[in-house]
Amino acid sequence: MTLLNEMLSFNEEFVSQEKYKDFSTTKFPDKRLVIFTCMDTRLVELLHKATNTKNGDVKIVKNAGAMVSHPFGSIMRSLLIAVYELQADEVLVIGHHDCGMSAIDSSTVLEKIKQRGIEEKTFETLKYSGIDLHKWFQGFKHVEDSVKHSVDMIKNHPLMTKDIPVHGLVIDPETGKLDLIVNGYEMN
Ligand SMILES: [Zn+2]
Repeated sequence: MTLLNEMLSFNEEFVSQEKYKDFSTTKFPDKRLVIFTCMDTRLVELLHKATNTKNGDVKIVKNAGAMVSHPFGSIMRSLLIAVYELQADEVLVIGHHDCGMSAIDSSTVLEKIKQRGIEEKTFETLKYSGIDLHKWFQGFKHVEDSVKHSVDMIKNHPLMTKDIPVHGLVIDPETGKLDLIVNGYEMN
């Protein structure tokens, strides 16, 4: 059975046995918080156990590295929607140690893309369209600096209201220990 079929058959049972009832909640976050974090596999459940958040408590936005790379990209739009439409009153940026984006080398990524069959002329076309792929795939050296940068981008966004605290933290993906990097209450 393929992974997808396994999931679909599990899902049929999940719904028919009404297991969803344990997760019943609304689209508004009970803790009035939006968390922006990394897509790392180790954080799927650990982050919520370690921060005492469960279904219904928070809005959650994820990407590779918890990096806000563009002020008008989908991450920033999601955070603004969380604040203005979905009752989030605080923003928490949570980076983590041993992040895949801290070790990433854009040249290696581009080489892998080529090896998987994407043609050289595609890279040429993108280059002439003004897209700097090396910059786009660039990770970060120090997670603390990256978290601070994301916090700054969110805090100073022209459309973000000034009364929203934006906090920055780093989580240990093994133990769940949180270190506070930016206390958003002190910045207000
Ligand atoms: Zn990560």
